[in-house]
Amino acid sequence: MTFIPKGKHYVAGEWLEGAGTFASSPAHGPAHDYPVGTVELVNRACAAAEDAFTAYAPTTSRERAGFLRAIADEIEARADAITEIGTQETGLPVARLQGERGRTTGQLRLFAEHIEKGDYLDRRVDAALPDRQPAPRPEIRLVQRPVGPVAVFGASNFPLAFSTAGGDTAAALAAGCPVVVKGHSAHPGTGEIVADAIDAAIRKTGMPAGVFSLIQGGNRQVGEALVQHPLIQAVGFTGSLAGGRALFNLCAARPQPIPFFGELGSVNPMFLLPDAVKARAEDLGQGWAGSLVMGAGQFCTNPGIAVVVDGEDADRFTAATAEALSKVAPQTMLTDGIAKAYRDGQARFTARNAVKPLLVGESTGREATPNLFATTGEQFLTDHALSEEVFGPLGLIVRIGSVDEMIDLARNFEGQLTATIHMDAGDLAIARRLRPVLERKAGRILVNGFPTGVEVVDAMVHGGPYPASTNFGATSVGTMSIRRFLRPVSYQNMPEGLLPEEFLG
Ligand code: NAP
Repeated sequence: MTFIPKGKHYVAGEWLEGAGTFASSPAHGPAHDYPVGTVELVNRACAAAEDAFTAYAPTTSRERAGFLRAIADEIEARADAITEIGTQETGLPVARLQGERGRTTGQLRLFAEHIEKGDYLDRRVDAALPDRQPAPRPEIRLVQRPVGPVAVFGASNFPLAFSTAGGDTAAALAAGCPVVVKGHSAHPGTGEIVADAIDAAIRKTGMPAGVFSLIQGGNRQVGEALVQHPLIQAVGFTGSLAGGRALFNLCAARPQPIPFFGELGSVNPMFLLPDAVKARAEDLGQGWAGSLVMGAGQFCTNPGIAVVVDGEDADRFTAATAEALSKVAPQTMLTDGIAKAYRDGQARFTARNAVKPLLVGESTGREATPNLFATTGEQFLTDHALSEEVFGPLGLIVRIGSVDEMIDLARNFEGQLTATIHMDAGDLAIARRLRPVLERKAGRILVNGFPTGVEVVDAMVHGGPYPASTNFGATSVGTMSIRRFLRPVSYQNMPEGLLPEEFLG
């Protein structure tokens, strides 16, 4: 089967042309033309989303759960076509696209179950105290309400799970918020076919048409207009620090500022404690190399930095990492732009005298070859560029003089999505000093693992202090991510007939 895209926007139940077209730039397979987004389309989609809110917000959890499950079913019904166009556009292997599809449908079904349970509403009731002195207390109830239309920006590296029907869209729809997606220009065909699945689910479950729209990209004005549209009440974004910061600033400068939930970049430092390195330097090096090159290193949770105490064990770890990385063949990157940014990142390291090249691969065109560098703790602390993310399979080993230096270094990291401790039983005392430092830095702290691979569960935090995310109180993965699109409202002395239905029954 060959998937032929319509090459249209999907706005409130209609497939529409744009003002001109842009051609996709697939890693392999044919390019297709897609319509360029316009501000008029943004206005139309946002107005339809606001209209839909009136009908969608009051739907029951069970009705919305049925809608989410229908989207998952419709995605599965298009499985082969999604894999075909997804692999072409991104260069990701078939197994990865298949796995990501399972994760995406799994997320949708998880949210369906989550809202059916009802806990997400966080209902609270403070009974009236009519006899309280000196003044009676009124009855006060609280429940979470959907915020209104939400804008979603997907990431290039997760064309399904962090995109058109990805975690942000699933969370917003589960909360009762219509969604307007700004399609990623790196995978417009994948976006289109997923929008087609959502369209089928809307029709099957009788949801209002404006509950979902997809406006293709090809024009930065689309994203700018979307986050500034007065009807949009929150934004979910996964992508680069530069792009996220630009859109965050626009949200903050609106006459009515709105929350911008940006999940941005991270270097995900690993701290290798002495007994662990002594006992298994080779395993740690091989394990790190495997995590670093997974998906050509194009994960926001890629562990780009390893901090290790200088000495023979650090030498063994370094040698094992370099050896494992040297065997990795070039891998295709998601876009030409990401491949160029990777080469620029490599050049940033090779240009520095105080950075030792351990393995410098030649990357050309859209292909990436692993790179490994080493530096000292002192140098790392004085050169901010060394702590900035290089999106791709590039690792930096920071060799330090003592465990005290390790704690100091940890204190100097910026906000991270993850931080990892590799330890053995004898490292416990140092780990106990490190943990409270890392808690202030990262959304997720791991022990003896690698951070690539984010479980979609109730207890997951995929977020962290800036610049890992723009909102440290939130997560973009797991059921807690629904909170981003809910707002608590208190009801004081409200008669039963007027209370929201969520309080009844
Ligand atoms: P990106 O270049 O920031 O693009 C993300 C989206 O934002 C795209 O739709 C893009 O539009 C739009 N955009 C970017 N800058 C904009 C601007 N100034 N004005 C208006 N719209 C703008 O990010 P990416 O290439 O997709 O992803 C790579 C980066 O994302 C990496 O740094 C990675 O670490 C990070 N990432 C983070 C997470 C996480 O969960 N924290 C997950 C995955 C990736 P166009 O389509 O026009 O480019």
